[in-house]
Amino acid sequence: MRILIVEDEPDLLRSLAQALREEGYAVDTAQNGEDGLFSAESYDYDAIVLDVMLPRLDGWELLKRLRKTKKTPVLMLTARDQSRDRVKGLDTGADDYVVKPFDLPELFARLRALIRRSANRTTNVIEINDVKIDTAARNIFRAEKPVELTAREYSLVEFLALHRGEVVTRTQLYEHLFDENDSTLSNLLDVHVSNVRKKLGAGFITTRRGHGYCIE
Ligand code: CA
Repeated sequence: MRILIVEDEPDLLRSLAQALREEGYAVDTAQNGEDGLFSAESYDYDAIVLDVMLPRLDGWELLKRLRKTKKTPVLMLTARDQSRDRVKGLDTGADDYVVKPFDLPELFARLRALIRRSANRTTNVIEINDVKIDTAARNIFRAEKPVELTAREYSLVEFLALHRGEVVTRTQLYEHLFDENDSTLSNLLDVHVSNVRKKLGAGFITTRRGHGYCIE
């Protein structure tokens, strides 16, 4: 899952990006509204964390412009819990919001819920044969036994599972699993796929030659 954070406070931006990367997300960042809008329009992010008070273009205006072309789920960071702000956000097309200062676990939970809703899922758990993926706890069981996956392997499985039955191209996977700062060799994706097959069964991920990967 690839997230864009638009936030002008450097310390908050840095700590938020680091915390999300530790959770296994690919993270891009922007420090003002114009750069944020440019990135948001350039990629299909899985979600955007958007501060309201931003230089150059504020969060509301960014959101208004973005909504002309994209439905990317947006979590607003508002400074105060004022009902005026809240109504404005929902009118403008925000999907959810948290009030600063916020707890990280709460922000993570909201983000997961947003991503789940945008994939039209109402439950935390995805079951594929004997494999059970808990997207809230971010862990995986096979035949009721926990399976140890790296953060990247987990993200790969979750993304494919949320698009179950669809062929996901390598390009899509690169866009959603890795961020601008990842300098990865092109075969790294194959390594992750191969590791997941060792852990969850050879047939768990199907390769469609020339097209991409799929969980049937
Ligand atoms: Ca700000």
